[in-house]
Amino acid sequence: MDFRDQPDEAAFRGEVREFLDKELPERFRGIASGGMMMGGGEGGDMRSRFEELREWRKKLSDKGWIAPAWPKEYGGAGLGVMEQFIMNEEMAEARAPQVGGMGTSMIGPTLIIHGDEAQKKEHLGRILSGEVQWCQGFSEPGSGSDLASLQTRAVRDGDDYVINGQKIWTSLAHMAKNMILLARTDPDAPKHKGITYFIMDMKSPGINVRPLMNMAGSHEFNEVFLDNVRVPKENIIGEENRGWYAAMTTLDFERSAIGSAIGMKQTVESIIEYARDHDSDHTSALKVNPMVRYELTDRLLEVEIARMFSYRVVTLQNRGLIPNYEASLMKLYNTELNQRIARTGLRMLGMYGQLDRGSELAPNKGRNCYTFLRSVAYTIEGGTSEVQRNIVAQRGLGLPRD
Ligand SMILES: Cc1cc2nc3c(=O)[nH]c(=O)nc-3n(C[C@H](O)[C@H](O)[C@H](O)COP(=O)(O)OP(=O)(O)OC[C@H]3O[C@@H](n4cnc5c(N)ncnc54)[C@H](O)[C@@H]3O)c2cc1C
Repeated sequence: MDFRDQPDEAAFRGEVREFLDKELPERFRGIASGGMMMGGGEGGDMRSRFEELREWRKKLSDKGWIAPAWPKEYGGAGLGVMEQFIMNEEMAEARAPQVGGMGTSMIGPTLIIHGDEAQKKEHLGRILSGEVQWCQGFSEPGSGSDLASLQTRAVRDGDDYVINGQKIWTSLAHMAKNMILLARTDPDAPKHKGITYFIMDMKSPGINVRPLMNMAGSHEFNEVFLDNVRVPKENIIGEENRGWYAAMTTLDFERSAIGSAIGMKQTVESIIEYARDHDSDHTSALKVNPMVRYELTDRLLEVEIARMFSYRVVTLQNRGLIPNYEASLMKLYNTELNQRIARTGLRMLGMYGQLDRGSELAPNKGRNCYTFLRSVAYTIEGGTSEVQRNIVAQRGLGLPRD
């Protein structure tokens, strides 16, 4: 790959920078976008965060830049892979907040490929405007890594399907208007072949959402119980019993959207900045534990490796190829690196790093502690590290399955 921008790419980069200089509201500058330590993930109230971003969302939406790679007819800017990559880089460098969420990164792109015209018309515009929040009802208590074993049943009754079962770990189900849902429509077929992919209105009678608190103390995910929920047949994405294949598209989009090398670099830099600013106080572990220096150096080098992985994936996409084990490698590396960065951030603060938000004595308002606790889930959500390693082993290295 040529690491320099081509002339048209450089011009586009200039356009994005100019837009960010002019339009990014002052109060957002310095809030890390993909960074997870010093300001990114604070576990605050998600509803008020959403309101705060409304104005910024509008500015991006006017340029078609909420989902820049979507076709113009669906509200995107019709940009190519490299332009989208450049835009993501510049947004991350400027620490501009991301506004898309799972609607623009996973659900919209799935609908563009597998949805019918009526579904695209009804949902894509609302995803971009942020009017409608979505959630993903895939995992069940007995089906996570082995997703195809899911047991939620959908039985045809007239023009509807009647759905019974339970979903778990459903992020944002408590705020969502719609769910993308996988349910078994043919229990006699081989497990991958009897699954159908639905859009379910979360206001339908028979849905009970119960909160689950994560170990960092935030309410992000939920259990969702489905008791005779009726979903119209028009809400099938793709074809009956062929939902697995469309669901794999969703998971590919989910994995390639996880982690940003630039966000991680900013996080490491913010830890370094903290170490410099707090050189002489009790919240810096550098004096008693000089090994933290080496850790920081390692983290910075690893972030550069993460950047190379992202170049590899985007280069493949730019050549019209679909990254496969390469996307798994990137998800695996980025999420494990994010955990190492969180640990280094915590160690930098010595014993005080263990104090959480709310404690007066917590350095950096307890963000490092929160980030450390939240980081445990990075290697589980979107497919566990073990599952990603299996993919790399089988598809990348050609090793046998068992
Ligand atoms: C923060 C968070 C948010 C989430 N949000 C959502 C959401 O919005 N919607 C949704 O549908 N799901 C969501 N999930 C669920 C997530 O996709 C699953 O947790 C994940 O796929 C793992 O499934 P599981 O929890 O059932 O673990 P299991 O599949 O039971 O795995 C248990 C352990 O066994 C290992 N393992 C399993 N199979 C293999 C194998 N073949 N080889 C080697 N090791 C293996 C796993 O790696 C893991 O360590 C979320 C999870 C988290 C943590």
